[in-house]
Amino acid sequence: MICHRCGAHMYQAAYQPAIPADRWWCRCGAWRDAGESLEDVSAREAQTADVMAMLDAAIGELAAARGTTDQRDPDRQATAEMEAMMGQTIQTRGCSKCGGTMYRCVGTDDQGNPTNVPLFICNNCGNMEG
Ligand SMILES: [Zn+2]
Ligand SMILES: [Zn+2]
Repeated sequence: MICHRCGAHMYQAAYQPAIPADRWWCRCGAWRDAGESLEDVSAREAQTADVMAMLDAAIGELAAARGTTDQRDPDRQATAEMEAMMGQTIQTRGCSKCGGTMYRCVGTDDQGNPTNVPLFICNNCGNMEG
């Protein structure tokens, strides 16, 4: 398997119960399941990149406002501040596969009613679930 991002040879990690046995990894951080088409991988990575870009933007602004350079501060107060700044609700929960933190950004209208409820995406392993 050749990496779709950087062209290096991908490898299969040692068996871990939480991760599908046919998942291929690259040292650049990309991964791909054996049954996944290139379109599937691109769509998944685009969605993950969107969420991470939103988080990075929100957290970067928050850090600047606080005069710190902390990144990805997971505390509850930070999440509440990000919600206020973004007009969106960031929800988090534990990843059932790796135990990392999953995020999703729920869009809301002026009334605070959800308008868009995407899947949770794991920050650590890329797992997506609704
Ligand atoms: Zn790669
Ligand atoms: Zn995970």
